Amino acid sequence: MIRAITLDLDDTLWPIAPVIERAEHAVQAYFAEYCPEVAKRFPITAMRALRERIAAQHPHLSHDFSEQRRLSLRAALDACAAPHAHLEPAFEAFFSARNQVELYPDSEAALRLLAARFPLAALTNGNADLGRIGLAEWFCFSLGAREHGAPKPVASIFLAACDRLNTAPEYTLHVGDDPWLDVEGARAAGLRTCWINRHNSAWPATLPPPDWQVDSLDKLHALLQPSQADYA
Ligand SMILES: [Mg+2]
Repeated sequence: MIRAITLDLDDTLWPIAPVIERAEHAVQAYFAEYCPEVAKRFPITAMRALRERIAAQHPHLSHDFSEQRRLSLRAALDACAAPHAHLEPAFEAFFSARNQVELYPDSEAALRLLAARFPLAALTNGNADLGRIGLAEWFCFSLGAREHGAPKPVASIFLAACDRLNTAPEYTLHVGDDPWLDVEGARAAGLRTCWINRHNSAWPATLPPPDWQVDSLDKLHALLQPSQADYA
């Protein structure tokens, strides 16, 4: 029996690639207007390479995409001897666009139905802001890797969420798109698991299978229809 649900966000409730691309363009537009030398020296591909370099140089920040982004922007400003006063506005350009997501068509209705029956918590390695996105009302809380200090698949982030939900792991269902970070991480922490497989991918042969698999979130709601046990 499931008593609470933790949900991944990126690529579970909305596709993330187009969002990040728009956010990168927003940064580019900021620099084009206020620091043209940075825009010229760091077009989007160069900025991506810089961010990858920064991430590789700071493995201890693997749980903190916001800090990685800030360090990348700072490095770009430094490379052009541009003032650090542009750092926060450039980050805000990114962050604001990063939170303008386009939900999968089934997400909002499914959240509404699930939230009516289960306490929901967001569990994300990314830096989405549910308040800005306008989905906070469906969630008890959002626990991010940045706040927790370590990313999925570490067991401690799943257990911390169960703790805050006040449910034992075996009664908590984690739903996510990533077989390793979401499903295997949650399984290893003792949670029940649901793989959201929107693109008809093959399950990795090396991993134990998820408890459930769905291709959209509304199907999860149907799967979790009350059984007789709920009325016992
Ligand atoms: Mg995801």
